[in-house]
Amino acid sequence: MPWSGYAPEHGRTKTRPGRRKPCLPHTEGHRLACPIPLFYNEPRVPGLFRRADRSACFLRGEGSLEERTNKKETGIFSTQELSDSPREECGVFGIYDFSGEEQVALTIYYGLLALQHRGQESCGIAVSDTDGPKGAVRSRRGMGLVNENFNAESLEGLKGNIGVGHVRYSTAGQSTIENAQPLVLNYIKGTLALAHNGNLVNAPELKRELARTGAIFQTTIDSEIIAYHVARARVDTTSVEEAVSRAMDKLKGAYSLVIMSPRKLIGARDPFGFRPLCIGKRGKAYILASETCALDAIGAEYVRDVEPGEIVTISPRFGIHSDRSHCIRSSKTARCVFEYIYFGRPDSEIDHVSVYNSRILAGKYLAMDSPVDADLVIGVPESGNIAALGFSMASGIPYGQGFYKNSYIGRTFIKPRQHARESAVQVKLNPLRPAVEGKRIVMVDDSIVRGTTSDRIVRMLRDAGATEVHMRVSSPPFLYPCYFGTDIPDREQLIAFGRDVEEIRSIIGADSLAYLSIDRLAELTGGLPICNGCFTGRYPVQPPTEDIRGSYDK
Ligand code: SF4
Repeated sequence: MPWSGYAPEHGRTKTRPGRRKPCLPHTEGHRLACPIPLFYNEPRVPGLFRRADRSACFLRGEGSLEERTNKKETGIFSTQELSDSPREECGVFGIYDFSGEEQVALTIYYGLLALQHRGQESCGIAVSDTDGPKGAVRSRRGMGLVNENFNAESLEGLKGNIGVGHVRYSTAGQSTIENAQPLVLNYIKGTLALAHNGNLVNAPELKRELARTGAIFQTTIDSEIIAYHVARARVDTTSVEEAVSRAMDKLKGAYSLVIMSPRKLIGARDPFGFRPLCIGKRGKAYILASETCALDAIGAEYVRDVEPGEIVTISPRFGIHSDRSHCIRSSKTARCVFEYIYFGRPDSEIDHVSVYNSRILAGKYLAMDSPVDADLVIGVPESGNIAALGFSMASGIPYGQGFYKNSYIGRTFIKPRQHARESAVQVKLNPLRPAVEGKRIVMVDDSIVRGTTSDRIVRMLRDAGATEVHMRVSSPPFLYPCYFGTDIPDREQLIAFGRDVEEIRSIIGADSLAYLSIDRLAELTGGLPICNGCFTGRYPVQPPTEDIRGSYDK
């Protein structure tokens, strides 16, 4: 099953001491016969472990993020590191224009721009022409943001009326071009392009099973395992949707999939519905997207959400055809509640529940359950702002802006030097002194994961003249890792693990600290069943017994 659509870097000439050297030249043709798998020669620097190391330092009491950063040599600093919120893994988008007149690449580009908040490490678009030769797929992938990788010229080259797109943040598999999506797979029945959001909990076991039968992997992501299973099942099924259904029999965990076959666009959501997926329509084109904000961005109307466990097949012959054979009882579904608290864009609706309203509610519950006398409520931009507004509505304390956020520094900037007085956090976020000076402040944030920035932000407010800083968090404390497509890490790295609220308050230096109560979570989604595993340790799916986030890279 040769892959197409991208060119993995074989034939590396440099290996680190102690590594097995690849057979050179490790060419595409040679690779198939070579006994050394591709991943022996991949760099072993998954971001997961780098992040883990940092947290370990913090929890050993070796200083704040900024202090640790200043101890390092000057280098490139990721602005993502300035946020202590968890990160989503991916966003997916697909479109099929039945009229055959529209070049869909530009629409996918706009859809991906709307989903950029779900992943900023890599992106890609794959398109095909349903009237052209079967299996002719044009694709382009790259590291970084959508608008850094695509321009009018590159989109012009992606001709076709059906296509899929993807934005990625890596939680399983390294952040490399090989792992960027959509994956494009050539096999005996044609070509598949696949975009995936989520994590499989049984990926290592499925991978071993495939490897035993001779599969050679080009990436270190579990999405490739899904693609392989669909392709294998397609060999002895009558349709690609049947092959997807057969593959879903084996998959465990979180997945929202958008798959392009030569003549069909397919969307599938795991039976628990961890990650969102919705359907839209614009003229004669049907769209699949992670969030409704992407439909708004391209002027499409919302049709409905793909139900947990549902497979939808979009084709001119049947319109939207649904297979619900994998759906489970609605009361057993388990949407990720953090999509509403933080991941989703506030202008999106997920399963008919407004993300904005969920955040307003979270703020209101905080104000009701953990009131405090104060003069001003502010949010930690941007993710804390809406819950802060909700807190203000319920408490009657005025809401205002307490920080200026620098939106122009991009994804990375040069790290402050050793002994430098510049603050990495303050480069991005600066308190508005006239707004906070002499005031008792309630500061609302969406979460505290490792506690790497909260102390600095509290200190910045005090330095700007705030007389009191009361922190309110619009989620419960993270006590357990997530295995379903986010980077919430192992327990040892979570600030709330083994500490009570008073101890955390003391670490971050706030006058008071309160979290959203676990009992309130279900109310945020209007009673829709949710996953709250990272807060309770009770997961809807049995957690993996192996490391699913780093093991592929070894
Ligand atoms: S464990 Fe937490 S972050 Fe992960 S899917 Fe469940 S609620 Fe979402």
